[in-house]
Amino acid sequence: MSVTKIALVTGASRGIGRAIALGLAADGYDVAITARTVREGDQPDGLPGSLASTTQAIEAAGRRALATPLDLLDRSSLVPGVERVLDEWGGIDVLVNNAILVGSAGEGRFLDADLGELEQRVFANLVAQLIITQRVLRSMVERGSGIVVNITSTAAVSNPPVPVGEGGWAMGYAVSKGGFHRAAGVIATELGAQGIRCYNVDPGMIATERAKADPRLKFMAEGGRPPEVVADAVRYLLASPHGTVRNGRTLRIADFVADQADG
Ligand code: NDP
Repeated sequence: MSVTKIALVTGASRGIGRAIALGLAADGYDVAITARTVREGDQPDGLPGSLASTTQAIEAAGRRALATPLDLLDRSSLVPGVERVLDEWGGIDVLVNNAILVGSAGEGRFLDADLGELEQRVFANLVAQLIITQRVLRSMVERGSGIVVNITSTAAVSNPPVPVGEGGWAMGYAVSKGGFHRAAGVIATELGAQGIRCYNVDPGMIATERAKADPRLKFMAEGGRPPEVVADAVRYLLASPHGTVRNGRTLRIADFVADQADG
């Protein structure tokens, strides 16, 4: 008898996280999801996507969904959010750290940045990710296996070509993603022998609902790949035997797409 695997995908109300959640449901995973937007229309900027609609789509694929409202800035909700999944479903086989703090606060040029807002961004995009990951990893180590996929960014490893506001990215995003990017290698080194695999996936430019709705992100809406391609890369990593991609490494979507095209 095959046992259904369980995935937890953060930030799955829309964008890349939603696509990953649906991709994993199509592969037979039951999927626990988090985000702030509970129902369609609740999002203040009017963006489509919610925990309710992703839940509906997972269930339409014949899998179970478990939706937990979670704000990365609410420190006290992070561990309980993970423990809800562990308590209700008994374990987590796959964690996809996809959510980030979305919003313009603290994302101006560095000298204009409010340090409190900058601190919030680093907390949400880095510290909150580590808090969630540590709790999940403790349970994975107890069970002797688990895979963590961190959705990283080119901004984690490259300099912005131009300043923020002209198409580049701001200090808060760069340094928080830069720190987050280093976690996969540390986890692989420390826990690889205990059955844990951890990868980064670097999406490149993706045309999400947010990119399509924001005129400042027109270049992403027009030049980006669809979110489903990131989901395909995550599905590939999870389905590949251990060692296909070295533990702790980064899979760039540009390379994944090129490799797929080569067959
Ligand atoms: P979206 O804005 O489309 O989705 C972000 C998700 O995170 C949503 O589900 C949103 O839901 C949730 N979220 C936003 N703020 C918070 C918060 N404070 N607490 C909890 N959840 C929150 O983003 P993308 O899909 O574009 O980005 C997903 C990942 O991909 C990120 O890690 C990003 O860095 C990475 N990435 C994306 C690229 C792109 O081109 N799109 C390029 C490189 C990297 P809600 O609003 O309901 O909370």
